[in-house]
Amino acid sequence: MELPAIVQAGHPILRAAAAPVRNDQLGTSHLRSLVSTMVAVMRAAPGVGLAAPQIGVDLRVIVLEDRKDLMERLPPEDCDARGRVPFPLTAICNPVLTVRPVGEGTPPHAMFFEGCLSVTGYMALVARHFAVEVTGVDPEGAPVRLDVTGWPARILQHEVDHLNGILYVDRMITRSLTSNAEAQRWILMPEAELRAALGI
Ligand code: ZN
Repeated sequence: MELPAIVQAGHPILRAAAAPVRNDQLGTSHLRSLVSTMVAVMRAAPGVGLAAPQIGVDLRVIVLEDRKDLMERLPPEDCDARGRVPFPLTAICNPVLTVRPVGEGTPPHAMFFEGCLSVTGYMALVARHFAVEVTGVDPEGAPVRLDVTGWPARILQHEVDHLNGILYVDRMITRSLTSNAEAQRWILMPEAELRAALGI
């Protein structure tokens, strides 16, 4: 199967609110095939999430998956710091995201570098809510409800943003923008040190 290209920043579809999946689209071969294409594109990239507009499709559909082999590219302490844990393949139509309260002693936001398959070559610091709930339906129409924290919560916020025409660059700390080639020097640095080094 020839995979569609990932649409890059500058394409208008990445700046538009995507159309809701209609009830009569759920459970159709058309929607199943869209989701399997999205999964294939995400895995080939490789990435941990993808929204339909990123392959030029105007629908509120996201897929996410975090695998051990992707996490193994990072030091284990870094995965721990980010709350990065394996996340099974999940497809959600019409996701609705709600911020969840955090327990006492847990900061409500987490600040880490993230990138986007539609803004290739760069990463930047983005503060994301630590805990979110996402509800929606799967491609067959069955209800989905996810209560997540840490890295999966970040992925979901990033992907739901795509459905609303928002890119991480709209939320990033602009002075932290780094090319991937220079990212290694920054991504493991403790936040206080980063702030001092970057003047933020
Ligand atoms: Zn993205």
